[in-house]
Amino acid sequence: MARYTGPVCKLCRREGEKLFLKGSRCMTPKCSFERRSYPPGQHGREKQFRRGRASDYLLQLREKQKARRIYGLMERQFSQYFKRAERRSGLTGANLLAILESRLDNVVYRLGMASSRAHARQLVQHGHFVLNGRKIDIPSALLTPGDTISVRPESSRRTYFKTLRQELDDRQVPRWLSLDADNLSAKVLNLPVRDDIDVTLNEQLIVEYYSR
Ligand code: SF4
Repeated sequence: MARYTGPVCKLCRREGEKLFLKGSRCMTPKCSFERRSYPPGQHGREKQFRRGRASDYLLQLREKQKARRIYGLMERQFSQYFKRAERRSGLTGANLLAILESRLDNVVYRLGMASSRAHARQLVQHGHFVLNGRKIDIPSALLTPGDTISVRPESSRRTYFKTLRQELDDRQVPRWLSLDADNLSAKVLNLPVRDDIDVTLNEQLIVEYYSR
């Protein structure tokens, strides 16, 4: 599946908030948004002061774009997830977030095994993980309750994962996941509910966007 490969800090500036797409750099003064918090482009600085009242459509669009950018998805895949969320029982917005959270790359990120979702995606694509005992290199794989993921034995001997094992010792993971730091493995206990997901998104606006 295609993915965005352009400058990522620009995305934060476009959305007007930090989306934490670059791992540890986002916490340092090097963060672009800290230095230039206005929209990108030649007239970005002027736009910052010219903004009037945003239309409902604009608010809905921006929320959908923000969600896409946080999870690193292109429009087609995101809208497919929305359709899947609609088919599930319950609130579509909460279902959508649960689906996004259950992607393998997101789970690796949530477990603290990668500094960002983009980094997690790369680790998965490089074949460092096994899902339920079988090697997997598909970042978009959706995990379900009971699934176990772990670092491949061959990969766990690498310096990165050796260091990671120590860092994960006191790692707090979301309550829908269970982490075994010593064995670099984890289990999905259940799908996350809205309260388990700490992203600053108004999922109702996304539902309204696709319901136009
Ligand atoms: Fe966004 Fe991180 Fe870049 Fe800052 S460093 S602008 S938070 S991606």
